[in-house]
Amino acid sequence: MIDLQKITRPNIWRLKPYSCARNEFHGTASVYLDANESPYDTPYNRYPDPLQLRVKKAISEVKGVACDSIFLGNGSDEPIDLLYRAFCEPQKDNVVAIEPTYGMYHVCADINDVEYRTVNLDENFQMSADKLLSACDEHTKLIWMCSPNNPSGNSLNRNEILKVIKNFDGIVVLDEAYIDFSSVPDILPQLPEFPNLVVLQTFSKAWASAAVRLGMAFASPEIVAILTKIKYPYNINVLTQRHALSVLENNNQLQQRVAEILEQRVLLGQRLQKLPFVEKIYPSDANFLLVKVTDANEIYQMLIEKGIVVRNRTTVTLCANCMRFTVGTREENDLLCQTLLAYAEKIKKR
Ligand SMILES: *Cc1c(COP(=O)(O)O)cnc(C)c1O
Repeated sequence: MIDLQKITRPNIWRLKPYSCARNEFHGTASVYLDANESPYDTPYNRYPDPLQLRVKKAISEVKGVACDSIFLGNGSDEPIDLLYRAFCEPQKDNVVAIEPTYGMYHVCADINDVEYRTVNLDENFQMSADKLLSACDEHTKLIWMCSPNNPSGNSLNRNEILKVIKNFDGIVVLDEAYIDFSSVPDILPQLPEFPNLVVLQTFSKAWASAAVRLGMAFASPEIVAILTKIKYPYNINVLTQRHALSVLENNNQLQQRVAEILEQRVLLGQRLQKLPFVEKIYPSDANFLLVKVTDANEIYQMLIEKGIVVRNRTTVTLCANCMRFTVGTREENDLLCQTLLAYAEKIKKR
């Protein structure tokens, strides 16, 4: 068990949140003169639901998680930042994270002036729970894990993840942004067992909705209540809420698109494998491949000149000469492969 009051910043625990007009009145009325809105139907004259109850209900049905265990943010970036603001005292507390992983955990630590401790994954990008736990001390409030991980693409060993959750008495965050592409199921069915677990998912990847900025955090109702208390009152705008309801309704489209990307991931891997400058393709449970090449900087530059942008990860820990290729449409992947093949022919003649 965790003592939430003990790990929450005292000012946040005591905080009395801003109470907006739409918080004080629940239900439906025929005349709204409570929020100083314009009465003219533009049709965006009314404030959106600050608690996004309809969207949460739809997510609850798709994910099998109770509404009071769902927090919605302006992308996953918002709950990432709010977790620091809720639990980490600047210049005093610290967090521990796997390395390499998603860059926002570190950036938000720096913004909030919180020490960011890293524990390197092994050469197969696997995690040791013991190493992660031994990097913690009495000031460690959060542990960051990401599975499938970015930029490596692999799923972390589930037993190691569970060992961290069970043996840490602060908050453990598991970022599952790529879970829809994974052969490993999400951890949400076990959420009620773990009062210290926060699971992040997003509409930005498999749901094909990066532009609307909608991220989900799943956690105990107590943790969700703390995040809700400190968020901006109207953090999810009405256009985003409507879009979310519409994509959640067309759930089958998601399955179709994911199946196509998984098929393309296999084909892309097979074609890249044959290129002479490709040294290793790491196993992926996500919608991208991490590929070790002989000269990442040169290939990156060559692709840019051909109008193809990929991610050069060569300066990232354990990723020397690695590039990250997002799996695109069949046509996009074809173009990438043809361009790389032409480059291989060219360097053969050097
Ligand atoms: C892409 C990505 C996200 C999504 O962030 P949003 O702010 O929801 O767009 C979250 N975590 C990881 C690891 C990612 O790669």
